[in-house]
Parts: sequence; structure tokens; C-alpha cells
Amino acid sequence: MPNHSGFGLLSTGLIGAILLLGLVALWSGGAQAGDDLVDFKSLDKVTKGAFTGKFSNRDHQIERGLLESKLIPVYPEGADCPKIDHIYGEAWQGPVAGKFHTGTDIPAWWDDPIYAMADGEVVAKFTGERGYRGLQIVLRHSPEDTGLPVWIYTLYSHFSSMPEVEIGQRVRIGDVLGPNGKSGVPGEMREPHLHLTVSFSKSPKYARNKWLLVPMEGHYADPVALFRGKMPIDTQAMRALPKSERRVKIAYKLETGKIVPPGAKIIWPFACDPD
Ligand SMILES: [Zn+2]
Repeated sequence: MPNHSGFGLLSTGLIGAILLLGLVALWSGGAQAGDDLVDFKSLDKVTKGAFTGKFSNRDHQIERGLLESKLIPVYPEGADCPKIDHIYGEAWQGPVAGKFHTGTDIPAWWDDPIYAMADGEVVAKFTGERGYRGLQIVLRHSPEDTGLPVWIYTLYSHFSSMPEVEIGQRVRIGDVLGPNGKSGVPGEMREPHLHLTVSFSKSPKYARNKWLLVPMEGHYADPVALFRGKMPIDTQAMRALPKSERRVKIAYKLETGKIVPPGAKIIWPFACDPD
């Protein structure tokens, strides 16, 4: 019965194909279930206008907190930390005039270790072929990681060589991410420094392409605001704080590994030397 066995072969093949398709669907579904990655198309207009160069819109940037916060970092007495020179929200002069600084710049020595500011997960690595950010990585910190009830992203730029951490890897507060440098900085424009951008969202979801990561319904924050250790951290609220509350004490790690004050969940991204 050649027809019968032919049918048998065909149906075996079909069942095999259906099983395989099912497995592929299960596998890709499983990979996405543990992942909060979304498509750029699902970002709202204001988020796109605030975070992407392509749709850049100053009103949307302001709405999402990209302006000076008026916060003042209070560095420790008895320890010397690399300090901010260019503040968050600053209007740039020079080659990128008309743009606003999305983070803070902290100059430090070549190859000084840059620390994870809190427990978190590596969610992006960028080589920075477009723009002036050079080698970058992004960490995402859950509410449990920081004690703050939002999802926080810390972006570290200009490493002298690509950090060896991998996407999906968990890091602990104070772990060395990579060496300080000036990758992406044109010519002799600047000394080695860390450009640090902080953003946050109530949602754990984010979009990512080869060049940038954008939190869904994301807001920018002055990195100094994280050291308040409590909400709010958004720029509009920071600007409305009474003068007495604008000074924010920096928590940090000594080169010995000791965190000051003990138990701090967010620390300065460079070691502070004891005096
Ligand atoms: Zn910068």
C-alpha cells in the first residue's frame, strides 16, 4: 500500500514540523517572558521627544525633567571624592551648543575603576559609533535594589576599554564595571571623565537599539537626587525643594571596600580616598 505509507511519512513529517514550530514558539515566548524589552514603536511621543535624538523636542525634555535641578552635592569630610565639574541639565556651549547635558561629568584619572552605584542588572552595552559617548554600559536597578519605588537606570560612558560584564548579568553595589577614560570624546576636548546619566520609570520596560536605551515612560533625574535616598527624585520636585533640602550628602565606597555610611544602597561611582 504505497499510498498509505506515503501518507504515513507525510503525517510524521507534518507532526514533526508542528512540534518543532511549537518548540520554537515556546522558546521565544519563554525568552521574552523574563525580559522587559519593548519595541521603540511602543514608546509614547513625549518619551521619544525627550530621549531620542531623532525626535528631539525641548518641551518634552523639560516635561521629563531635563533641566538644572538646583541640588548641591555635599562631598564627605575626611575623604576625597572625584567631583562633578559639568552639572546635570547644563546648557552646552561649543560644538554641541543648544543641547542640554543629560547627566553629570566627573573627571578622574585614566583607568580609575568605575563602580556600580547600586545592585542591578546589565541591560545595555554600546560601542558609541554615533555621538560622543564612546564605550558605555547601562544598569537597571529594581525597587528592591535601591529602596526607591521606581526602576532606575544608570548609564556610564567614556570607558577606556569595554567593560567585561555581559547583558543580563547581575552586579552588586561597588563592583568594578570598567576603567575610566575618554572614549568617544573628540580629540583633546576633555580630560578623562565619567559621563553619568540617570533615568527612571514606574515601568520595568525599556526599548533598546544599537545606540541607546530608553525607559518606557522614562524621566531623567539629576544623579545627585539618588543620594536623597527617598522620593521624590524628579527634577520639577527638586527645583521646588526649600533651600535647606537642596544639599544632598554623597554616600561612597573607600578604596578598602568599606561603604560609608554602612548599609547605603546607592554610592558614588568612584572610590573616595581617605584624607
Ligand atoms: Zn557629560
